[in-house]
Amino acid sequence: MMRPLIYDLDQTDLSQHLESWGQPAYRARQIWRGLYQNFWVRPEEFTNLPAALRLKLEEEFSFEALSPITILESSDGRTTKTLFRLKDEQAIEAVLMRYDRRCTLCISTQVGCAMGCVFCATGQMGFHRHLTSGEIVAQVMYYARKLHAEGRSVTNVVVMGMGEPFHNYDNTMAAIDRLNDAEGYNFGARRFTVSTVGLVPMIRRFAEEKRQVNLAISLHAAEDALRLTMLPITKKYTVDEILASCDDYVRATGRRITFEWALIREVNDTPEQARLLAGKLKGLLCHVNAIPLNPTQGFSGQATTRERAEAFKEILNAAGIPCTIRLRRGIDIQAGCGQLASRAQG
Ligand code: SF4
Repeated sequence: MMRPLIYDLDQTDLSQHLESWGQPAYRARQIWRGLYQNFWVRPEEFTNLPAALRLKLEEEFSFEALSPITILESSDGRTTKTLFRLKDEQAIEAVLMRYDRRCTLCISTQVGCAMGCVFCATGQMGFHRHLTSGEIVAQVMYYARKLHAEGRSVTNVVVMGMGEPFHNYDNTMAAIDRLNDAEGYNFGARRFTVSTVGLVPMIRRFAEEKRQVNLAISLHAAEDALRLTMLPITKKYTVDEILASCDDYVRATGRRITFEWALIREVNDTPEQARLLAGKLKGLLCHVNAIPLNPTQGFSGQATTRERAEAFKEILNAAGIPCTIRLRRGIDIQAGCGQLASRAQG
């Protein structure tokens, strides 16, 4: 039988296990701190525990959620993409982007994705399965340990890798809560950003829960006809329904929302789209992140040009909607989500 993954436990679960083994309560806290503050990944590293307990941990739990099978570094050395093999031989990716002061980690929540966005390599793979909360947590802890050895730490986590996090809502939020635990990794909720294609009921649930986590919406088009050609989810939730749920979210939480926009040349980088978007976002506490398309093999669209991106931004800014053009990172290592895993999956 497969042993449960230790990262799938929260602190209460772990304490209950230790109690059932007749261990004093402080042992659970020692293990928790070992995992999340010392970044220990093997039972033998827990040298503060009696040998018999280390052995018991090893017998009862699996510590190895992910095995790195391919590690690619961008030519400027700032972006690292890791392809991980999971226990059941499936593959996922996580990408670390190092900036001068920040280290932003992009993590996955599913193997593949059911949303089928046409420009996305993960979408082109189809859906395989949800990740467990522990498999999501383990991606962060893998990089936390690596950066710790470099004297650095993860400063931001964006949940924008493979998968639609709101399709795997419970496990994604459980992972965030576990990483947020003040007695463990203690990673502030505000340092997470979760990105969705616009699953309206989940945006509403997220708003009700009043989480401090940042919310980003992958919008990419300001009207249904165009959006439908790229994001099939538009059949289920229209642009206006999504924006109405965003409006409610901002009202409920007082938090600014981000809209992601992959700029595709002469498709959604036009002045008409920019004006339409500006009109729809008017009065909403928001920000638009526009990023030239990261090309994938399965989609013929081209990245916008610098001039067209600037013109798009100017129209939004002139209408009072803050817009930033983001740089594409890691093109030379196929850092766009799913580009490596789709090949590994075959
Ligand atoms: S862009 Fe995100 S939601 Fe769309 S298919 Fe890719 S992983 Fe899924």
